[in-house]
Amino acid sequence: MVHMRLLVLAVVTAAVAPALDLCVQNEAGMDARKMMLTVHHLRQYRGELSTDIQVRCSAESVRVTFVGYPGEGHPSDALGATRIAKGRILPEVQIFTKPVQEMLPGARPEVEARALAKVVAHELMHYLQQRAGHLHGLDQPKFDSRTLLAMH
Ligand SMILES: [Zn+2]
Repeated sequence: MVHMRLLVLAVVTAAVAPALDLCVQNEAGMDARKMMLTVHHLRQYRGELSTDIQVRCSAESVRVTFVGYPGEGHPSDALGATRIAKGRILPEVQIFTKPVQEMLPGARPEVEARALAKVVAHELMHYLQQRAGHLHGLDQPKFDSRTLLAMH
C-alpha cells in the first residue's frame, strides 16, 4: 500500500513540474496573432530547453521583450540579446523583430513567428544554462535565413 502511494505521488509531482513563466512585453507592436503563433512555435523547443513554457507574469518570470531595432550597445543586425550582471545572465531577454523581418523579406506572419520563436528559444537557452558562449544547433552564434527557419 505504501509503495502504491509513493508511485501515485511521484506521478502527480511529475505532472505539475513547474513550467517556465514568460512575461511577454510587446514593444514592437506585433499583432496578437503573430504573438500567439510565436508562443505556439516556442513551445516546440520545450525538449531542447528542458522545460515547459507558459505565458504568465509572476515574480519568477523571465521577461521577454519584443522591440523593433536593437538599441545602443547591440550590433545593428543582432536578433536577440540577454543581459549579464555580476557574471549572471539575467532573466531578461530582448528580441529584435526588425532585423528578423529583414532577413525574411516578404515572409508570411506564420513564417516570421517561427523565426522569432527560434530567437526566443536561443536567448532562453543562454539564461537557462547560464552560459554566454555558443555551441551549435539552437545554440549556434549566428543564424542565416535558412537556419533561422529550421526547427532545431
Ligand atoms: Zn547567443
